[in-house]
Amino acid sequence: MRWDNLVEKNSTAGNSALFAADAVTTRTFDTPEFRGITFHEIRARSILNRVPGASRMPFEWTVNPYRGCTHACVYCFARKTHSYLDLDTGTGFDSQIVVKVNAAELLQRELASRHWRGEHVAMGTNVDCYQRAEGRYRLMPGIIGALRDRANPFSILTKGTLILRDLELLRQAAEVAEVGVSVSVGFTDRELWRTVEPGTPSPGRRLDAVHTLTQAGIGCSVLMAPVVPFLGDSPEQLRATVSAIAAAGAVSVTPLVLHLRPGAREWYLRWLGLHHPHLVERYERMYGDGAYAPTWYQRRITRQVHELADEFGIGPAHRGEGRRIGRTPAAAPEPGPTQLTLL
Ligand code: SF4
Repeated sequence: MRWDNLVEKNSTAGNSALFAADAVTTRTFDTPEFRGITFHEIRARSILNRVPGASRMPFEWTVNPYRGCTHACVYCFARKTHSYLDLDTGTGFDSQIVVKVNAAELLQRELASRHWRGEHVAMGTNVDCYQRAEGRYRLMPGIIGALRDRANPFSILTKGTLILRDLELLRQAAEVAEVGVSVSVGFTDRELWRTVEPGTPSPGRRLDAVHTLTQAGIGCSVLMAPVVPFLGDSPEQLRATVSAIAAAGAVSVTPLVLHLRPGAREWYLRWLGLHHPHLVERYERMYGDGAYAPTWYQRRITRQVHELADEFGIGPAHRGEGRRIGRTPAAAPEPGPTQLTLL
């Protein structure tokens, strides 16, 4: 494994190695939840990371306490980042998890720096900060606490229902700063969920989490991602999904069609060949050599979802109505196709 390759080029600490190569502790846990998963615990040298090309994105700074993700979504485009460690981007990404065990103390220190200007911090933009590992390592309470104590605005995008564990902390943070929470639910089809997002809580459980968050006064939006061509995009499926999102009380819904970057593309097409071989040719035609579905297709899906959102009362006219507390905004920054892993 090439730990020396892990260099945080855009951190607040400058171009320094993310951690010392001799500071890696590798662990496994013999519990059913973590069987087959290897954790590589590191003491990172910096935690606030500036997003390259941030001018195109709605946020400039991120915090990512983990690398790799046990949620194991087949289409996850963060897979490519595992290759920088000489780790496998397929099952390796799902089962070799890097844990920055000192994330919270580092963040406290970096937020207190005289160079820090209190900008928005986005989490869940690379891998899921509420993946299963968080149940054991409990890094997020310290991270949210550090942001709360500095009244620093932040947003979280997740598929992990574990976020509810930190509900009280989120409420406290929302009293003093802008806090956005988004949950990702691309479809409600259980068969599709079981095979394409095998490590995640079910879409129903995620929507229950949306409901709990909104009931608690935390405005929660839904990133309807990914909309999966030919498997999750029929009018009936879109209707069922938007209807369920509305019933959960989401303040907004943003559709995003599946995109397949290198790393994710190969893994996804392999999965497609195993589970839906009759679709491989259609995908090859639709995506060609690129990462994105054609514009006409993306526009069609967006229009359909927006119409449904209006019908169910979560269209733009309804966004942000009466589900906020403190200075909480309605939603995390609207994601674009370039900055998210389709959490
Ligand atoms: S898409 Fe998100 S939840 Fe799924 S594996 Fe990637 S980082 Fe994890």
